Parts: sequence; structure tokens; C-alpha cells
Amino acid sequence: MPALKLHDTLSRTDREVKPLDGKTLRFYCCGPTVYGPAHIGNFRTFVAQDVMRRVVEASGTLTLHVRNITDVDDKTIRDSQKAGQSLIDFTRGWTEKFHADCASLNLLPPTVEPSAVAHIPHQIAMIEKLVAKGHAYAAADGSVYFRVSSFKDYGRLSHLEDRELRLGASEAASATDSDEYTKDSLTDFALWKARKPEDGSNYWPSPWGEGRPGWHLECSAMILEYLGEDFDLHSGGVDLIFPHHENEIAQSCCSTHGHFAHHWMHVAHLMVDGGKMSKSLGNLYTLADLQQRGYSAAEVRYVLISGHYRAPLNFTFHSLDSARQALQKLAKADKALSLLTSHLSPSSTGPFAEAWDTLLNDLNVPGALGGIFSVLNKLKHTAISAEDATAARNGLHFMLKALGITLPPVQEEATADVPAEIQALAQQRWDAKQAKDWATADVLRKELEAAGWLIKDSKEGFTVVPKA
Ligand code: AMP
Ligand code: ZN
Repeated sequence: MPALKLHDTLSRTDREVKPLDGKTLRFYCCGPTVYGPAHIGNFRTFVAQDVMRRVVEASGTLTLHVRNITDVDDKTIRDSQKAGQSLIDFTRGWTEKFHADCASLNLLPPTVEPSAVAHIPHQIAMIEKLVAKGHAYAAADGSVYFRVSSFKDYGRLSHLEDRELRLGASEAASATDSDEYTKDSLTDFALWKARKPEDGSNYWPSPWGEGRPGWHLECSAMILEYLGEDFDLHSGGVDLIFPHHENEIAQSCCSTHGHFAHHWMHVAHLMVDGGKMSKSLGNLYTLADLQQRGYSAAEVRYVLISGHYRAPLNFTFHSLDSARQALQKLAKADKALSLLTSHLSPSSTGPFAEAWDTLLNDLNVPGALGGIFSVLNKLKHTAISAEDATAARNGLHFMLKALGITLPPVQEEATADVPAEIQALAQQRWDAKQAKDWATADVLRKELEAAGWLIKDSKEGFTVVPKA
């Protein structure tokens, strides 16, 4: 099968994603900072990375997917103290919530999911190398900084001019670091932050005194540990291009032999009312928010993949309603095909070859979805043989798997009179069941029964009926 072609932020060209070792695509995604629930903007990036992985795997290539957990930084320390919990307990709780949301959204779990706190010695070792090679220096307070002027390629990924880099760094510094004046240069960034009273008990010993690693360092250290010096692809949201990824490149290239990621994939933002969805702007929705309003995780996922990953996507409730309709159409088409064929082994594209090619062209999901619907529309109006139906159903499931789409139960007439809040509860229970969260599924079933409704499960889904 032909390989996926993806836009590469560094070279600004679309390039084939082919594993360096010819077998396994080894890639890294910057993971969540676990100090609250991830919002659906964060999930836009994680879902796009999931589709990329699924498409690579569907094309016959193995993957090694590393995604970190940021469990120590200013925000996790601040909020664990507010919550009166130890950093470990606080971040564990939010990591578990993140995993539950990932399962509901049908994200494949990464092969390795290392955490920053579990890799402090690796980070210290990297700083030691950088200091020894003259790329880093300790300030009087025991903090250690990367000397940006020592790395001539700094800024290549973000294509920023020197003046803009300075501006960006000084803005970032004034927002996050009051110890700015201890640095030799404005653009230098912290590798190790000396212990401050507000860190509480969250500090570690190091050759430069007690403190903790700077945020950028953890990814470089964990990449070296799990993917080595040379690896295939690195990904994150566009907000990470500068300074985070620029700093990762600098730290990694200067502490090793000058190699790092061969391909950079960046996902554009999910927006609300024209602004980036973000915790600091307070304009976010979590998966739980949307489930409470009666939408399913599959509908949320559908919305998140429905725009091209390199274009900003505006989130609206209308798009969730459209996703519901689109998923129903797919489920109905699948059901109609299933009446003509019982054989399901989705290993090839069948009549969806063109839609698949579209997907391979820089992960054009909206184009591929359009292609799928146009084939299904044609099939709907044609009498087809059992053999064609088998090819079509297998092809459809091949595409759905690559996109991570799970079909909802077909909405039968019987469920039309079910009140929206009951239907929403039933959907939440179904999602919990799919995510193997049996306890929640049980609680919701009992809640429905208490309200006078029974759920009947089948292989394809559920129907809600009034209690006799
Ligand atoms: P964080 O938990 O803030 O470290 O972010 C986790 C991931 O979500 C990173 O790859 C971010 O770039 C990404 N991200 C944050 N906000 C958005 C957004 N509104 N749309 C898409 N991706 C986002
Ligand atoms: Zn990172």
C-alpha cells in the first residue's frame, strides 16, 4: 500500500511518512499537563495524532507511539497545593480522568506513556551533558539555563527571525518566570529551576542544588530514553512550535550528535467564537460537559476529525448535531449492507479506494468522509450483488477503523418518543460500557430504571423502552 504523505513543519513540504528502520514508525507526541480535565481542544490534537497512527497502521506499518504525561510544572504544583493533595496524588487523579476520556474517544493507548516525575535523573543527566559541552550554564541562584546563542539552528522550525524570537521569549518569560534577570540573554530558557518557597515539598537534589526541571526538558529526555537520538516523527498542537519544540530541538541536538525528529506534524487549534479554546481564556468544553448535554463521545470525535488538521476548526453545537446525523447515516448504510452480507473482514478499501487516497494525502479526513458518503449514496440507489455488498461493507469498516469511528445504534422509530434527557443518559451508559467502565454503566442503568425506562442491548447498540 502507498504510504501516508504528511506536511512537515520544518521543511514546509508534504513528505511521505516512512519509518527510518523500514518497519516501525517511531513517533512522539507531547502529552497533557495533568492539572485538570483535558478540554476538547487538547483532544483535537490527540485525536488527529490517533488518526495519523491508525492510517499508518492500516497501510501496513507498525508504530511505536510515545506520549508523555507532564506531572510537574508551575500549574500542577500550584493546583495540587490548592487542592491540599500531594503532587503525585493530584496528578494521578487527573491522569486517570485523561485515560478515561481517551478510551471514550476511542484513542489508541500509546505504546509508552512516560511521566516527567519518573524521569528526573534522565533530565539531570541531559543538563550535565549540556553544561559539559558549553551549551548551558548555572546562574547564581542554582538555576541552569540553555545558552540559545550556542545553537546556530535555533529558530529553524518556527521560521522566526532573531528579533521575533527575542520578543516571543521575553513575552514567555515575563508570563512565567520572574527570575528573568539571572539569565545571560533574554532568549535563554530554564533547564533547571532552583527551588522556591512556593514549590513546597516538590523539589529534587541536583548538582546545582535543589530544584526541578524546566518544562521543555522532559520531552527531550524521554525521547532519548524511548526513541533514541534519531526518530521518525514528532507532533503537537501549533502552539508548541515555539518555544517548546524549538527548545526541545536545541536541548536534544546539543546534548547528542545533532539528530532529532525527521518529520514535524502540528495540529491547528480548536477555536470557540474566533479564539483558541484554552483553559486560561475560560472558553473550554470538556468531554463531560458535552456528554451532560446529551452528546456522545463518538459525536465529539466526529466533530474533531471533521476539519482538516492543519486548518483551525470552530467548535459549535450545530457541528455536534451534524455529527449525530452523519453517524446515523453511516450506521444505517452499514445496517443495510449487513442485510446483504454476513461476512466481515475489513482488510481492504473496496469501493472506497479513492477516499483512502484522499486520506493518504496529508490526512485529508473531511475529503475522505465526503468520498465515503458519495460512494454510499451511489450504493443506496443501485441493486448490488452479495459479493459487492461484502466488498463495500469491508471497505466501509476499513475506513471507519482508520478514522477511529464507532457506529452508534441505528435510531429506530421506537426510540423517537424517548425524552432527550433519557436518551442522553442511555447514550452515556452505552459510552461507559464501550469504555469498559462497568461501574458507571451500572449506575446509569439503575438511574434509567428508576426514571421508568429499560435499556435493551444488542450487538449493534441499544434501544430504550418504557418499563411495563
Ligand atoms: P497541554 O495539556 O496544555 O500541555 O496541551 C496538550 C496538547 O493540546 C498540546 O499538544 C497542545 O498543543 C494541544 N492544544 C492545546 N489547546 C488546543 C486547542 N485549542 N486546539 C488544539 N490543540 C490544543
Ligand atoms: Zn514536548
